[in-house]
Amino acid sequence: MAVHFFTFSDFAENTYIVSCDETKECVIIDPGCYYGKEQNELVKYIQTNKLKPVKLLNTHCHLDHVFGNHFIHNTYGLLPEIHKGELPVLEAVPMICNAYGIRGYEASPMPEVFWDEGDVVEIGNMKLEVLFVPGHSPAHIAFFNRKEKYLIGGDVLFQQSIGRTDLPGGDYETLLGSIRVKFLPLGDDVVVYSGHGAPTTIGKEKLSNPFLNQ
Ligand SMILES: [Zn+2]
Ligand SMILES: [Zn+2]
Repeated sequence: MAVHFFTFSDFAENTYIVSCDETKECVIIDPGCYYGKEQNELVKYIQTNKLKPVKLLNTHCHLDHVFGNHFIHNTYGLLPEIHKGELPVLEAVPMICNAYGIRGYEASPMPEVFWDEGDVVEIGNMKLEVLFVPGHSPAHIAFFNRKEKYLIGGDVLFQQSIGRTDLPGGDYETLLGSIRVKFLPLGDDVVVYSGHGAPTTIGKEKLSNPFLNQ
């Protein structure tokens, strides 16, 4: 098992490649590559490590997490897989990009496969359990590797912070509920790989995250 991440675009978004050591199959989660050099960096990592991308997952569909969906589809033939409740968010991205003055966004292809709480995504010999964790966006999901004790958490819980809740479909109490009910019980030694910033652990955030200690 290997978790690798890049920090891409002006939004400093973390793009993850999680790969199975035995089969070399990998999943690309939240490709935020926007610039050509970022796309090249991602491809180079995959080539160098002789990986075979077999899935494209989005934790949620804010623009910074789907910038690279078009590129990944073009390069590896993969369609994004999301929670169905994020479809309106994905469909709104071109409009939001216009509003932000972002000219370089190439529209994501539409998903055909959807994931929900309790589902298990299998890549090679790895299993990622799907957690439904709304609050930052309406149908945000996270991916938990129980065996290896890590979580690809998206924009739910950050080192010393939590996801913003002022965007459409966001809700502060819902987000705190998602963290308390779905994330905290996973175990103090679980590593959280977030959508922005450095990795942390459940234990560290339980102790010192200001939003969880009010
Ligand atoms: Zn987000
Ligand atoms: Zn984000």
